[in-house]
Amino acid sequence: MSSRTEPSFRESVDLMFNRAVSLMDLPPGLEEKIRVCNATYTVRFGVRLRGAMHTFTGYRSVHSEHMEPVKGGIRYATGVNQDEVEALAALMTYKCALVEAPFGGSKGGLCIDPREYEEHELELITRRFAYELAKRDLIHPSQNVPAPDMGTGEREMAWIADQYARMNTTDINAKACVTGKPLNAGGISGRVEATGRGVQYALQEFFRYEEDKAAAGLTGKLDGKRVIVQGLGNVGYHAAKFLSEEDGSRITGIIERDGGLSNPDGLDVEAVRNWIVKHGGVSGYPDAQYVEDGALLLEEDCDILIPAALEGVINLSNAERVKAPLIIEAANGPVTAGADDILRKKGCVIIPDMYANAGGVTVSYFEWVKNLSHIRFGRMQRRQEEARHQLVIDELQRLDNVMGDTWSMSPNFKDKYLKGAGELELVRSGLDDTMRVAYQSMREVWHSRDDVTDLRTAAYLVSIDKVAKSYHAKGL
Ligand code: GLU
Repeated sequence: MSSRTEPSFRESVDLMFNRAVSLMDLPPGLEEKIRVCNATYTVRFGVRLRGAMHTFTGYRSVHSEHMEPVKGGIRYATGVNQDEVEALAALMTYKCALVEAPFGGSKGGLCIDPREYEEHELELITRRFAYELAKRDLIHPSQNVPAPDMGTGEREMAWIADQYARMNTTDINAKACVTGKPLNAGGISGRVEATGRGVQYALQEFFRYEEDKAAAGLTGKLDGKRVIVQGLGNVGYHAAKFLSEEDGSRITGIIERDGGLSNPDGLDVEAVRNWIVKHGGVSGYPDAQYVEDGALLLEEDCDILIPAALEGVINLSNAERVKAPLIIEAANGPVTAGADDILRKKGCVIIPDMYANAGGVTVSYFEWVKNLSHIRFGRMQRRQEEARHQLVIDELQRLDNVMGDTWSMSPNFKDKYLKGAGELELVRSGLDDTMRVAYQSMREVWHSRDDVTDLRTAAYLVSIDKVAKSYHAKGL
């Protein structure tokens, strides 16, 4: 074990940032300007519940306004604090720059355990928090656009959107004040699955490059790869589900709050999720071996480790024992700066958070554009596309008729080809493209510079360069 002490989450992000900027040639002062968090607003507000006044503490931190609006989720968890929201806001800046979502970085949080409250109580609390933030333009379609994060989802976003609309009755763009809303409240198809889907697309892209797989000592395809997932929340669940159902990966371990499950033949993600919903945890699940100390599974043999829960779970105390050759950070900050040093030296390849979990904000970007354009994606083109495809099918059908037994259309071709792209198909296509292009920009730096030996540093270099260029364009 190392004698080093672990820095805070924000310090950890700063250390990784510093490592990258030391390889850059930024004008004096700009490095500091980019690193620091511009402002963090703390609010303490009271809500009358169960016959008494309860005081809640919330934050909204704005890391960088080189582009506006600034963007980032709102987290509900008891551990929320200023250091954490600032670290997460900084990661949002780099994340948005890397995937070319035209936003600055922000993050919010409320110190609360949402499981302790009834739905109507949570609504009162959320509306009051939203009121406090909206009043200061910390929720605003052109200034600051929150989204879901840990402990929040579509329901909370709908309350926030409605609260903003009540306070801004004539704002035609009011719906664009928050993303991650339900479809019937101005949301977009595919937003809920987006972060997990992004993790899948990121891995698919990684597995397209022999050189990159070789760096992790891996070969072949995602098919059959052993995957351990920590956290079966929205992100971990969707990532594990898509990887197992569509890419043939084997989910050999799932770690949850109350322990971990392992099964070398692969776990049924849907069945485990249903078990958790019904029983409140993984313990007792029949088709697996249960370990009470779930964190031990982080150290198990596997091909891919997906931490999709909290920050700091791979740290100085366990990094040395982590065996996975490839880690994809579905959570924000799951590997501390110290653990990152250890893992890099061991030859482990880490696909960094700012890239790996950027699927969420990417589809948030699409939702925001949809709200501002006031039209569903695909609404204008879909039938026209289908009509043009019908022309081709008709011609092929004619050919089919005259060719007799010598040629015919492949089974299902007609149905597949005829179907015009709806919103979900377009969102997935836009997300896939975004994840591929961003990965290529990172790997280009990773492989072309001798002083860059890991994807995280490459990711920072790409994104800091983009942020620096925005500042430069503004004359700063
Ligand atoms: N909370 C998510 C994140 O950390 C999504 C942010 C967003 O969609 O704005 O990236």
